[in-house]
Amino acid sequence: MNPDRGRSGTSPEPGLNRWVRPAVRELRPYHIEDAAGLIKLDAMENPHPWPAELRGAFVEALRSVELNRYPDGEARALKQRLRGYLGLSDDTGLLLGNGSDELIQMIGLTVGGPGRCLLCPEPSFSMYRILAAVTGMRYVGVPLCGRDFDLDHEAMLGAIDRQQPAVVVLSYPNNPTGNLFERRSIEAVIEASPGLVLIDEAYFDFSGETLLDRVTGRPPVLVLRTLSKIGLAGLRVGFLIGDPQWLAEINKVRLPYNIGALSQASADWVLSHAEVLREQALRIRRDRDALCSALRRFEVLEVWVSHTNFLLVRAPGLGESLHAGLKAEGILVKSLHGSHPLLADCIRITVGSAEENQALLAALARRL
Ligand SMILES: *Cc1c(COP(=O)(O)O)cnc(C)c1O
Repeated sequence: MNPDRGRSGTSPEPGLNRWVRPAVRELRPYHIEDAAGLIKLDAMENPHPWPAELRGAFVEALRSVELNRYPDGEARALKQRLRGYLGLSDDTGLLLGNGSDELIQMIGLTVGGPGRCLLCPEPSFSMYRILAAVTGMRYVGVPLCGRDFDLDHEAMLGAIDRQQPAVVVLSYPNNPTGNLFERRSIEAVIEASPGLVLIDEAYFDFSGETLLDRVTGRPPVLVLRTLSKIGLAGLRVGFLIGDPQWLAEINKVRLPYNIGALSQASADWVLSHAEVLREQALRIRRDRDALCSALRRFEVLEVWVSHTNFLLVRAPGLGESLHAGLKAEGILVKSLHGSHPLLADCIRITVGSAEENQALLAALARRL
């Protein structure tokens, strides 16, 4: 989107070109569509509400939060809870962010600057490119293999050798393609990388696959997780796991009170009932597989296997029109057409509740 547009008739403010950093001037903002009144299957949220019988206890737990005080800047209680939840030993580093996006930004602020580069396969999570630009890094994208979206082993190793990236980011499983890269290729990327390797496991709860066992080795691997996709997107809590010396450096660029008091208390309470989250994640996995099979019955659709809570779907030749058609039917999905050549005619559908998935299938039956 051109920021000069919309103020029709006015010429661009001259100060903009002079003072706004070119990397920021050139950015296209992260686009979030207005979902008002629509069935929301665009943002990988958990569709299941918290069980009614637990809500009273949750609200009770928040009563003691003192909003006149700053939150605990180190979020000690929540970190302790997370260590238990993740089974982390005390000598493994743990850092919290206001969503995992903020942690990627913090890594960029720590290692970014002139001559520094962030490298990742693409298509992948669009925030990597934005955060590279924001933190003064060159962004290098290496195309995934065409059909199954696996890492292009040779191309990745070649690019790493040429670019010497400060940080390589792998989304595991990958957003928006939903697949897990071959572990063998990931190991080769780790071995070849001169700098950090960030493994973004935003969808761990739906894949069950992790590289957490690699964070203590060399070269440094950091694992990124979030509470957003398992049901707490509104809280904005992400966490980074890895070498304590690296995390101590990254911690220096963190704003002192980056996790609000209500988010800390909420996340702590919710994780003390982690069995609810686990049960919901299991349900979403089952619904995903059922939805995948149902979508495959539409002959015109190509549907990829997913290790996440969303499905990548191609409707050859339809371009933007399937997204628009579903929106007209009251269903919001993510349009990927135009975002990358490998994603022509693609949409990404977040797995919804059973009723929402039925509504989607009915809408598709009318439109296809
Ligand atoms: C959704 C997503 C994130 C961002 O998660 P937040 O914790 O909500 O900021 C990070 N990485 C990937 C791959 C995602 O899909």
